[in-house]
Amino acid sequence: MMELSTAGVASAVHEAISTNVVARGVGSGTWLFGGPVANDAAAAVVRPRGGVIEYTPGDLVISVHAGTTLEELSAVCAASDQMLAIAPYGSPRSTIGAVVATASAAPLSYEDFTIRDLVLGLTAVTGTGDIVRVGGKVVKNVAGFDLVRLNTGAFGTLGVITEVSIRLHAKPIMDHVVTGTLDDAPNAWVLRLIANRAPLPMLVRMAPGEPTQLFARCTGNEARASALRGIVQSYGARSAFTLGPSDTSSASESASPVSLLRHVPEQALVLRARTKPSHGASLIDAARFAFPEAALLFHPARGSIRITTLATENADTRVAAFVASAAPSMPFSIVVEQGASPLPQANALDFSVKQAFDPHGILNRRRPGAV
Ligand SMILES: Cc1cc2nc3c(=O)[nH]c(=O)nc-3n(C[C@H](O)[C@H](O)[C@H](O)COP(=O)(O)OP(=O)(O)OC[C@H]3O[C@@H](n4cnc5c(N)ncnc54)[C@H](O)[C@@H]3O)c2cc1C
Repeated sequence: MMELSTAGVASAVHEAISTNVVARGVGSGTWLFGGPVANDAAAAVVRPRGGVIEYTPGDLVISVHAGTTLEELSAVCAASDQMLAIAPYGSPRSTIGAVVATASAAPLSYEDFTIRDLVLGLTAVTGTGDIVRVGGKVVKNVAGFDLVRLNTGAFGTLGVITEVSIRLHAKPIMDHVVTGTLDDAPNAWVLRLIANRAPLPMLVRMAPGEPTQLFARCTGNEARASALRGIVQSYGARSAFTLGPSDTSSASESASPVSLLRHVPEQALVLRARTKPSHGASLIDAARFAFPEAALLFHPARGSIRITTLATENADTRVAAFVASAAPSMPFSIVVEQGASPLPQANALDFSVKQAFDPHGILNRRRPGAV
């Protein structure tokens, strides 16, 4: 499969318009079955090329072609002791264009950054074959409607992303994952974690028959990292110990303690639900009631929970029951990541935006079931 420049992607989209075939922006193809878009076997695959366009370590900014893999990006930045703060990521083969398109967030990312916080600018080819360049290469660059963030998480429905400029961070001297068990009473520890939260990324993993485990990423110089570790213990994490470096280089990917948190079997039902952090304990209760067999990963700062279960029978009915039980009692949103029909989300505004960028309906379409 040929890897295309921005002009090549524009030609491919024009070709798709003239032949009325769906044009699908694709990276390494590791997650074509997930998210809200249809995995249309008849779609024409449009794969943007990889490679660095410009890297200025002094500015902590890199511009790359969208097909650059996270492994390549990490290697280039590591040479200047810098990193992409969304690591540790799902797969070293993931391309940066796809990470932006899917707004994939890493578990325990550095200082809790998401890709939405880090993309400074991008180039995309719309469904009319036009090339749009939005944002720039500096942190304060948004004037008017923010088309960078509109394309981030749009799953390629508004444009095929071909180039991305990203803000980088210096690698901290110490970078460790600390873990410990929590008493199994969410209403107590959720409030404690929210009230005392230090500037450190944390996740709580709950699975039937296993102790509830807190993971925290402690970074900085030696003094800061050890102070943060002390804070983790003060949260009530019994027998907190350092699991190991949250090393994000590809060589140590599978050995990283975070690999435990991000493994997602292809056949699993995966949901991400979110509420206000202060309603976290109620969200956990609702998730446990609806999916007693599932592994739950709770993010106290975001008030979000990822539910992963291999029990996929009657998935749509179970998701609907979960929504019906949780939604009336708290501010609540939910995304089906895989394994069930997407929930209706599109509204009149979404529809008009899609019409504006893709009037022929030639780019990624939402799966049946979504409005
Ligand atoms: C349930 C599940 C949850 C996941 N969650 C995370 C997570 O939280 N954190 C994480 O790091 N990884 C996550 N991933 C893994 C996955 O590695 C990322 O989504 C990654 O971005 C995929 O990279 P890829 O290059 O293989 O994308 P692909 O599989 O090629 O594409 C993924 C999607 O993005 C679209 N797309 C790809 N490239 C472009 C482009 N240039 N322009 C427009 N659209 C494009 C595709 O059409 C497709 O819909 C998850 C995977 C699964 C199965």
